[in-house]
Amino acid sequence: MSDLIDPEELLLLTSSLRRHLQRREQVRIVRVARDNRIEGKASAGKSAGSIAGSGAELFSAGAPSLVASNLEELRAAIGDCSRCKLCSGRTHLVFGVGNPRATLMFVGEGPGRDEDLQGEPFVGRAGQLLTDIITKGIGLRREDVYIANVVKCRPPDNRNPEPDEVATCEPFLKKQIELISPEIIVGLGKFAVQTLLQTKMPITKLRGNWHTYHGIKLMPTFHPAYLLRNPADKKLVWEDIKKVIKEMRREDS
Ligand code: URA
Repeated sequence: MSDLIDPEELLLLTSSLRRHLQRREQVRIVRVARDNRIEGKASAGKSAGSIAGSGAELFSAGAPSLVASNLEELRAAIGDCSRCKLCSGRTHLVFGVGNPRATLMFVGEGPGRDEDLQGEPFVGRAGQLLTDIITKGIGLRREDVYIANVVKCRPPDNRNPEPDEVATCEPFLKKQIELISPEIIVGLGKFAVQTLLQTKMPITKLRGNWHTYHGIKLMPTFHPAYLLRNPADKKLVWEDIKKVIKEMRREDS
């Protein structure tokens, strides 16, 4: 009997775990409210909220198919998407991967061939480089962070996504970011960063400096695919990533 858990002890453990989770949820809501980042809805067990900044709900009550209080619901709301012309050439819709409560999130442009075939972002050669940045550079596992793209379906011949495709798909990214609520976003490459920051400024000017995306710290850096073509610039990305690591440590302390 001694090595079995006593039912009373189990009850105590369960209620203490429940209180701990409730406190965490409250801390999260308060922290977020203090940051003025999320207008918290303290509904039990939900981390729903909306990104402040634009002052508007990202998804209005008038768009019921986009209402989602977690990533699974968001994925279900997207469904077998045919909202833009990219659907005709895709094998898989590449939603995103990683820890739904990640502190650190990476945002790329859109799936390439490997990602389209496997249904997961950043799994090709550029993806291997991103994985190295996460694991060898930052010291995290790929599954500790969250990885997503601006568009969820592969543009033909890896062309840039077109404005109508971005306009259709970007709300899903915004909602993903809202649900994950990371401390830091790393924007990968010109396209993702310019889309997130709504700017035409070149990535060479944007990278290495902190920006804000709806109250969330955003560090732009070069895209891993660019680094495969320009390996000499890896040292610049490392400079950017060191700033991210420093900021994560500051957040932790
Ligand atoms: N490039 C991107 O921007 N995203 C991917 O998922 C893969 C390559």
